Amino acid sequence: MEKSVYYIDCILPVPLNQYFTYRISEKIADKAKVGCRVIVQFGNRKYYTAIIIRIHTNKPEYETKETETLLDDEPVVSLHSFSFWEWMAAYYCCPVGDVMNAALPAGLKLESHTSVHVNYDWIENERLSGIEESVFLFLQGQEHATIQQINSLTKKTNAYSIIQSLLKKDAIRIEEKVEEKYQPKLVPYLKISPTLVNENDFDTAFENLKKAKKQLNMMMLLINELHHFSSQPKEMILKKEFMLKGHFSEGTLKNLIDKKYIEVVAVETSRINAHQQQTQKLPQLSQTQEEALNLIYQEFISKNVVLLHGVTASGKTEIYIRMIADQLRAGKQVLYLLPEIALTSQIIDRLNAVFGEKAGIYHSKFNDAERVEIWNNVLHFDKDENTNCQLILGARSSIFLPFENLGLIIVDEENETSYKQFDPSPRYNARDSAVMLGHFHGAKIIMGTATPSFDTFYNVQSGKYGYVHINKRYYDVAQPEIVIADISDAIKRRQMKSLFTPILLNEISAALKNEEQIIIFQNRRGFSPYIQCRSCGWIPMCKHCDVSLTYHKLQNNLQCHYCGYTVRLPNTCEKCQSTDIQSKGFGTEKIEDELKIFFPNATIERLDHDSTQGKHSHEKILHKFSTGKTNILVGTQMITKGLDFENVRVVGIIDADALLNYPDFRSHERAFQLMLQVSGRAGRKKGRGKVVIQTYQASHPILSHVISGDFNHLFSNTLHERKLFQYPPFFRLVYITVKHKNRDRAQLASQQLTLELKKLENIVVLGPEYPLLARIQQYYQLMIRIKISKSQSPVQIKCNILQAIDKVKHYEQNGSVVFAIDVDPL
Ligand code: ADP
Ligand code: ZN
Ligand code: ZN
Repeated sequence: MEKSVYYIDCILPVPLNQYFTYRISEKIADKAKVGCRVIVQFGNRKYYTAIIIRIHTNKPEYETKETETLLDDEPVVSLHSFSFWEWMAAYYCCPVGDVMNAALPAGLKLESHTSVHVNYDWIENERLSGIEESVFLFLQGQEHATIQQINSLTKKTNAYSIIQSLLKKDAIRIEEKVEEKYQPKLVPYLKISPTLVNENDFDTAFENLKKAKKQLNMMMLLINELHHFSSQPKEMILKKEFMLKGHFSEGTLKNLIDKKYIEVVAVETSRINAHQQQTQKLPQLSQTQEEALNLIYQEFISKNVVLLHGVTASGKTEIYIRMIADQLRAGKQVLYLLPEIALTSQIIDRLNAVFGEKAGIYHSKFNDAERVEIWNNVLHFDKDENTNCQLILGARSSIFLPFENLGLIIVDEENETSYKQFDPSPRYNARDSAVMLGHFHGAKIIMGTATPSFDTFYNVQSGKYGYVHINKRYYDVAQPEIVIADISDAIKRRQMKSLFTPILLNEISAALKNEEQIIIFQNRRGFSPYIQCRSCGWIPMCKHCDVSLTYHKLQNNLQCHYCGYTVRLPNTCEKCQSTDIQSKGFGTEKIEDELKIFFPNATIERLDHDSTQGKHSHEKILHKFSTGKTNILVGTQMITKGLDFENVRVVGIIDADALLNYPDFRSHERAFQLMLQVSGRAGRKKGRGKVVIQTYQASHPILSHVISGDFNHLFSNTLHERKLFQYPPFFRLVYITVKHKNRDRAQLASQQLTLELKKLENIVVLGPEYPLLARIQQYYQLMIRIKISKSQSPVQIKCNILQAIDKVKHYEQNGSVVFAIDVDPL
């Protein structure tokens, strides 16, 4: 009988829309499984980690290379994941290799360019084999080296499997960009000093402490709490907890540390789980919460997705915690998605306290070793009856973890735009993808928010999603009072002081006098410049669309982002003929400086992207504020996320116009959401807070909706416009960005593509236009916008779009033009 030849089809992390076939020996065929990784050669010299998706004996028509290196005995990717990856690639029109690239942590996808270095903190608890040792020694002489370099320098033909096992033993690390390294938060723990060994040592210590009653008490309590003389002593105890329990002073502790009886150890919070028992019981829900929970479960009978629409501080998190507990008890996995900026230590501590080591956190700021560890914990959850990481709390990329048995996905703050990945491809939205992920697992999805996105709310109205509403805060605190501060009016009366209206300045002074706190909000996206008349507030608008025109510096004109309408930059105001026209936009830093002039004695801090670059800086700023050390906190969206500030009396929104006039069909929806979220920071426990909204457009309809909190009315108004102008939720959008370093070439290619697309049926094609930033990193880019009616099947249309792109790509000179597709852009 003829010997069969075995082949594997693999996914490679390259942006090509296909699987790749390699030959394998019978020996490897015996061991290989779908979902295991292999190292394959790609092109002449490059090597990649690939994942096996099929093992077979069908000889392909083309010449195949052989692969020798199987990296795993067991799959590292679950079968559910493949279906999910394939769905994502099809839906977002991208190569499945891009999805693989986004899904796997770097430690699981070594390639020729992967750079590694020795782990300087390695504790040698596992022996290295001879060959591992020689690679390790080689690396010790280097700062870092790529696998390619290791290959050639060690004269090993293929160092991948050695690197792999060194990684597994934690002896080496994947090199990461410095700024991405996660800086773990350190928490002090207490332990008995190892200098106290036997009973004699303790007797001497007690004798020495006879005259120092407090120190003796502290020593005794520590011994007691750690069960030090029992057969199963605890190693250490959280300092804060211990000090509170015994009402001890720092001085007492310091004396014992000086005497070398007690030691303080700093432990990373991410590593704390091992020491932390489940300390807190499940919350006792209020009647309102209990009812909401029951309603959610009722909705789940007929719906897979339920929207929990609850005002800020209504206690949604506690409801999630109960739902999580129900799932964990049933042996299911739970994924709890949060927008990146909401992943603060507050929520992490809260979940750790209830679920202990069952809770794991997956975050782009964690180092790669930690991410691989979580990956493996999730993967092995079922098999080893290992309940570590049964609950994952994570940002958008955690939807890629290899779940086997998911029961529930929580998407908190579902309206947040940071669920969408813009670059690189796949340009997915984790909220929407979570619905699909849930589908593959038969899991339920709960989306929570105080201000639903219109897309989600539309799904509720059309009966696709279930709906539960809570309109009461947990602590019976009234919603804050919202007042509008009319900037035009203040200017007329010559009362404007720098960026501030008298109303806002008075409120700040009053709060400071009362020793209450203030939050001042300024949207980051204020960088997007529009122009405005300084004397009357006039903003040039598009003739055809309901959006403000955008100032394009490069072309020195004003453009409509949507229909392409263009006018020259005006010299005078159309309304009042003033020449005092300014491009608008000022940042948090400027506001901070100005506030210092008016309130020289107040402590003012800033919370934004720039101020949170340093180690723990985000936590430090929040801590300072929540402990009352800061009087005024100036910040961007970062301040709107899930923070519990009890003493905040005033919230100021400096420039509502920047929110209202952002050139986007979603600007009103966003403005409403943001203003309500920011307002939610005011007066959470003690009394009613006040929100001051500064604007030139005091009679803008959105502001009256914000004051009344009337979501439904705003929603139905907006829906009408969306239908009229063919926007979501009635139409799907697909944006295509055409990029090239040469401006003419980018322009030509985009025109060629537009021409091709216009031949297609059942779609509306707009553009090409230059977007806000016509050139990014040397690339000129043009945008083509496609609208697809929801009544059309998107599958065929997306195929046609891809074909059109492919055709244009093959035109002469278009080889180096980049076409980036964004499905459901935000
Ligand atoms: P949301 O997520 O809706 O903004 P949270 O869940 O953060 O609201 O709750 C707001 C505040 O109320 C928090 O301080 C929380 O600890 C408290 N809280 C909510 N529900 C309960 C409960 N059942 N028992 C005790 N405290 C609760
Ligand atoms: Zn327009
Ligand atoms: Zn004017």
